[in-house]
Amino acid sequence: MDLITINEVGPRDGLQNIKKILTVGERFQLIRSLEETGIKLIEIGSFVSKNAVPAMQNTGELINKLSNINNYSVLIPNKKGFIEAKNFGVKEICTVLCVTDSMNLKNINQPVNQTIKNLKDIFRESHESNIYSKCYVSVAFHCPYEGRVDASYVEEIVGILLDYQVKEIVIADTIGAANPKEVSSLLSALTNIYKDAKFSCHFHDTNALGLANVFASIESGINKFDSCIGGLGGCPFAPNSSGNLATEDLVGMLEMMNINTGVNLDKLLSAREVAVNLTGLSLKGRMF
Ligand code: MG
Repeated sequence: MDLITINEVGPRDGLQNIKKILTVGERFQLIRSLEETGIKLIEIGSFVSKNAVPAMQNTGELINKLSNINNYSVLIPNKKGFIEAKNFGVKEICTVLCVTDSMNLKNINQPVNQTIKNLKDIFRESHESNIYSKCYVSVAFHCPYEGRVDASYVEEIVGILLDYQVKEIVIADTIGAANPKEVSSLLSALTNIYKDAKFSCHFHDTNALGLANVFASIESGINKFDSCIGGLGGCPFAPNSSGNLATEDLVGMLEMMNINTGVNLDKLLSAREVAVNLTGLSLKGRMF
């Protein structure tokens, strides 16, 4: 039976993009409810400036309350964040590279080539410290400022990141503008060129194409996806981007296709209720 791995990003990507700021105790509660579903990988927070992203402050305190450190990843924007994560015993870090200069400047105030240079150092240190490193290749299909992103350019950037020993590339349709044809074309090219590389995908449901894009990716050889309980979140720097692909929609579709995820859909719907209660939002997933 096929196995698709789900990387739940609600506690980070979801919570940082809503108005309400949850306490560490509430974030803990959400993560525990997600762990009960059988989800093995959870992006639990980030080590970023608390002025830039107040919702993610005290991620270290949160880590200290949690017990399955091997199952968690945290997002880090720079070397400082990397050192903090390492000091808290984090085993997996995610970094972000927006592939267009306009978007990368908005996101971390750096041109693309500067970020790539900084990432080289972080990936090397991760490798040496036995910390699994991932890189989000963000706005990989469309940029809200620069439009369609050229696939051959993305392929080239991915090659550089892989040379720097990043362990996983997450191809991200950050604003939810990609369609299945574009997805299958880019992912097939990438999995063909970089045969030994680990790829996963991050989709948004802006145009109701999240699940179709997942299917296109599976057909192109991808077996790992980000998703977000209740379709929480969006992107503060990407105008009009709606929520992430909802975990319950993803698991629901895969279950109908007899593709195993190891996640219990009923328990996922309970975790969704926890997310609704904690955030006070009516969430966007359609599987309930
Ligand atoms: Mg997202």
